[in-house]
Amino acid sequence: MTNEETIKAMPKAELHRHIEGCVRVGTVIDLARRHGLKLPTFDPAGLEKAYKLRAPGASLDEVLGMFGLAQASFASYEAVERITYEALEDAYLKENIRLLELRYSPDFMLGARKLDWRQTQSIIYATLDKFERAHPVVCGVIVIASRSYGLESALKTMDFAVQNKRTVIGFDLADSEAAYPSSLYKEAVRKLHDAGLPLTVHSGEEGHFSQILETINALAPRRIGHGVKAAEDASGGTMELIRKVGITVETNPWSNYLTRAVSSIEAHPLKKFIGAGLRCTIGADDPEILDTQLNKEYGLAVEKMGLSFDDIRYTLRCAVEGSFLPADKRQQAAKWLLD
Ligand SMILES: [Zn+2]
Repeated sequence: MTNEETIKAMPKAELHRHIEGCVRVGTVIDLARRHGLKLPTFDPAGLEKAYKLRAPGASLDEVLGMFGLAQASFASYEAVERITYEALEDAYLKENIRLLELRYSPDFMLGARKLDWRQTQSIIYATLDKFERAHPVVCGVIVIASRSYGLESALKTMDFAVQNKRTVIGFDLADSEAAYPSSLYKEAVRKLHDAGLPLTVHSGEEGHFSQILETINALAPRRIGHGVKAAEDASGGTMELIRKVGITVETNPWSNYLTRAVSSIEAHPLKKFIGAGLRCTIGADDPEILDTQLNKEYGLAVEKMGLSFDDIRYTLRCAVEGSFLPADKRQQAAKWLLD
């Protein structure tokens, strides 16, 4: 078998995937027609140019435009259900993902139409639950506070996650780490810890590695999203702290390349992290907008980033062990992924 065939056939795990980044182009068009939304074009090939980030160097406006198209698609509860279902279907059928954690930011995703958060959460949970019963997949949903929406939004989102903890597996802080440093949330995350809701934080995706130290010290997360800047600490201290505390790093190599968090895909530090004993997973972040899949991420890891298939299997073990899903679901995933 070629590497490509081996990778495609492997059962996989994904811990870092935004629902807002999973809207198919065809669905953007279909929902725009149905809800009377404006699009730059209704031609699928034409829309892909405005919707998919295919090379580094796009301006912030272009990237915001892409996420704006995705955001507008969440125009009704039916749309939420359809997009969630399609995200699950794509992950299972195209990528053979068996353990999937999806995440969304209520303030961002539901902002366009002011959909009710609780009703949306019920729909997402019910869609996941139904899919899980019908397929050999375990899945759960993480709620995100988008830091750029301000502290009040983050506090509201944390309260929402705690109130809905029966159907939420964890919490995430995303975007704008430099403007909203982790120490701002030090008091607020206590309520998450008290409620037993595990935390992951987008940290060290850009900026300085000291932000990762701040995140670990202020917030005590179980996982970190991206974390690539840890490799830039010449003393090795940041990587050593991540290792010592047992944090799982959710890497997203292609995403890091497209946003220029790394200078080239070959320069991505995943292999270095694994070599230093860090717990690491591989994710696709926003598969539709970033034009990627786990099949592609694993292919890049093996062919460009120096990982062996043993390294890939190690990332799967880290995903099963670092997942926020309950123990029975993780045990089921271990049978599919690690036997
Ligand atoms: Zn992300």
